[in-house]
Amino acid sequence: MAQLSDDCFAFGGPMMSVDEAVGIITARVAKVVETETVSLVDADGRVLARDVAAPLPLPPFTNSAVDGYAVPASDLPRELEQAFPVTARVQAGVTGQAAQPGHAVRIFTGAPMPQGTDTVFMQEDVRIDDGGRVVLPPGLKPGANVRPAGEDIPEGHVALKAGRRLKPQDIALAAAFGLTALEVTRRIRVAVFSTGDELASPGTPRAAAQLFDSNRFMLMVMLKRLGCAVSDLGILRDEPVSLASALKQAAAAHDLILTTGGVSTGEEDHVRAGVESVGSLVLWRMAIKPGRPVAMGIIRGTPLVGLPGNPVASFVTFVHVVRPTVLALSGAAKALPVPMPVRAAFSYKKKIGRREYVRVTLRRGADGALEAIKFPREGAGLLSSLVDTDGLVELGEDVTKVAPGETVGFLGYENLI
Ligand code: AMP
Ligand code: MG
Repeated sequence: MAQLSDDCFAFGGPMMSVDEAVGIITARVAKVVETETVSLVDADGRVLARDVAAPLPLPPFTNSAVDGYAVPASDLPRELEQAFPVTARVQAGVTGQAAQPGHAVRIFTGAPMPQGTDTVFMQEDVRIDDGGRVVLPPGLKPGANVRPAGEDIPEGHVALKAGRRLKPQDIALAAAFGLTALEVTRRIRVAVFSTGDELASPGTPRAAAQLFDSNRFMLMVMLKRLGCAVSDLGILRDEPVSLASALKQAAAAHDLILTTGGVSTGEEDHVRAGVESVGSLVLWRMAIKPGRPVAMGIIRGTPLVGLPGNPVASFVTFVHVVRPTVLALSGAAKALPVPMPVRAAFSYKKKIGRREYVRVTLRRGADGALEAIKFPREGAGLLSSLVDTDGLVELGEDVTKVAPGETVGFLGYENLI
């Protein structure tokens, strides 16, 4: 069990570091064990459930890497160019005859090496003499321009490990093995709620004091990108009894419940109390900005993560808390996004002990190096600050200030979701 650290921030009481909190949450969720077998195209982005060992070597047979002329290494001209009659021809997709010593075989890229040959001259490096013979220059290394069977992947090699989130190149590899489907973890079922009397769903009338619910849609599409099956459970009103009962109901049919809003300490913040009334609260605040109030609880065995309502806080805590939770549920190997070093073109002060994320745009400085420009305003409610920037600069717990010209770690939005 992680230690609760002393909190030095606004609310008083303990506040956990992001890593501690995520460690606790991911340790508390049980990996979904059910799998399904899906076609290669549908496997993109899913989590591979079983190791895939190469059922055949890649390439499956030794072949020419270029268009040219194949000869045995024993015939290679050593000091002077030498002419060879061309007595056979082999193109991609067919097996040619064995080569005769002292002869060259016309060969094309991808064609199997004829028996008795092991080296290929590129057609650009040779000429044809008046007698129609190919004149090969001296100095080529034995084995040149040949792709030996298994040079890419030997037969039996575990080429794709269970827990991998499949990428297009992984799908290509499975196809190269002749597979038509892959076994993946079934989709994680996630229930998504917004909370707040001030919210109206797009497509419904909006009262003067209401705003349209945007977080729910952002969260649903981020979950979709993580391969989840998402249930849109709408907006919960700021009313404890119906909220608690909706959470309890959602727990029965989902692997994870995600809420946004209502996790602060205000009188109308009912999510925390709701979780406590039908389940147990594991933690509810962490040292992250934007963010801070992030609740994690368990309702009848189903984990719940309650994100803050401010859109930027909701986005940032999704990326750093919910994403690892979903990946843990689906058995995905841990893959922390790696910040890219860039030069700060801003100054910034922050509290020690808290992880902070700064919304930035990248540009090239006069010397060609990448620079991060801070979005001019800081409000956690500004959707434009997410739309008009390229990513987040991550400032670790021990950082207290950033001066222009210092190197900082940048996380592009496309790497975060
Ligand atoms: P809360 O965390 O419930 O105190 O909400 C903090 C702020 O975020 C308030 O200004 C809310 O109006 C806003 N907010 C809460 N939920 C949403 C949502 N689903 N979409 C957009 N803004 C929201
Ligand atoms: Mg609220």
